[in-house]
Amino acid sequence: MRILIVGSGIAGQTLACALARRGIACDMIELKPAFDIAGAGLYVQGPALRAFLDIGVVEAIVAQGEPLADDYSLACDAAGNVLAALAYPRIAGPAIPAVVPIRRKVLHDILAAAVACAGVSVRMGVTVEAIDDTGPAARVRFTDGTAGEYDLVVGADGIRSRVRSLAFETIEPVFTGYANWRVILPRPAGLERTTWMMGPGTSFGIIPVARDTVYVGGVTKEPGNPRYPRERLPALCREKFAAFGGFAPALLAQVNDPAQVVFTPIEEVLMPAPWHRGRVVVLGDAAHASTPFWAMGATMAIEDAVLLAMLLERTPEAAAVLPDWMARRLERCLFVQKGSMETGRRSHDESPGAIEARDNYMRNHMQADVARRFATLAESFA
Ligand SMILES: Cc1cc2nc3c(=O)[nH]c(=O)nc-3n(C[C@H](O)[C@H](O)[C@H](O)COP(=O)(O)OP(=O)(O)OC[C@H]3O[C@@H](n4cnc5c(N)ncnc54)[C@H](O)[C@@H]3O)c2cc1C
Repeated sequence: MRILIVGSGIAGQTLACALARRGIACDMIELKPAFDIAGAGLYVQGPALRAFLDIGVVEAIVAQGEPLADDYSLACDAAGNVLAALAYPRIAGPAIPAVVPIRRKVLHDILAAAVACAGVSVRMGVTVEAIDDTGPAARVRFTDGTAGEYDLVVGADGIRSRVRSLAFETIEPVFTGYANWRVILPRPAGLERTTWMMGPGTSFGIIPVARDTVYVGGVTKEPGNPRYPRERLPALCREKFAAFGGFAPALLAQVNDPAQVVFTPIEEVLMPAPWHRGRVVVLGDAAHASTPFWAMGATMAIEDAVLLAMLLERTPEAAAVLPDWMARRLERCLFVQKGSMETGRRSHDESPGAIEARDNYMRNHMQADVARRFATLAESFA
């Protein structure tokens, strides 16, 4: 079976490892000439850890990340008053923490090491020029002038997927009206727990990602999708989250260098099913990029990848598994995409009445909401 993976991000790396452990070889290409992983963090949630068991990286993630203390986080108002303690279930097994926040670069390095260990080499600085899927195999021309024939071409190339644009009708990411501000900072003394704070139209997350490091992620409403000059990002970041209390002021005071701040307009990819055509499939953000309000986009990408490898192991004809793969992924990915967007809307209300209603909801219903969400996601993805 000849498989091409386009994109060496979370989905592509997971797929390469999951295929290798089943004895299925692949070629992998990556657009970037070298990896430059943004200075940000990531919640690796229970369902992602469960899928990661397949490729043997969970121990490293738990050791190098910072598992949520006692498996819960705090939801607070803007002043830092606790509205709810939100407990998360251990989906990957009783000995594996419920959620492991980790630096993106650390996760990338763990996955890159697993890819290398699996014997998969990544051709860097190369992408797909054209795909001709009319013959007995998909013929791919690469931007470095080479070509190859494949039984399956997997677009794991993220939100602006080139594979998606080559093989399907034009589907552009949709701006949601929100943007994310992310910074990695030294962890303040006394900060024990991941804390999510909600203000008027904004939110601010303080997430330990290592013993000495904290990931700060804030969300603002950004009507019109403005682009800011890089040099203004620190001042804007301090200004936009100035209303937050608790550890926020001391953390924001350290945001001075434009290179520290990752500013990302939040977009979704709403691609109609099926996410495959002939011998081409797109997965992860290329198919269903989601808002980060449930912090689950990577979880879905990882599950996509592991399930695809599991199905490919059982068949001699790669493209034949795609309808089954699609049927198992669609509802689950849409559940996350829609639920995340709904949480985002509710969390970023602005009027005093809406804020009071939101805070009451947080106090009285949020834990039940989280429990329901994870009851669905605890169901097997395989
Ligand atoms: C602000 C924010 C916070 C988030 N927080 C979380 C979180 O806490 N937990 C969580 O689970 N998810 C989170 N997500 C979502 C998560 O980041 C994505 O869902 C995940 O990275 C998707 O993985 P992917 O491999 O599909 O795409 P990507 O990670 O984007 O990887 C795509 C790869 O393909 C490469 N590529 C791009 N174009 C080409 C091309 N033409 N040819 C070859 N290679 C190409 C890219 O360089 C990259 O290496 C967050 C997202 C945002 C925006």
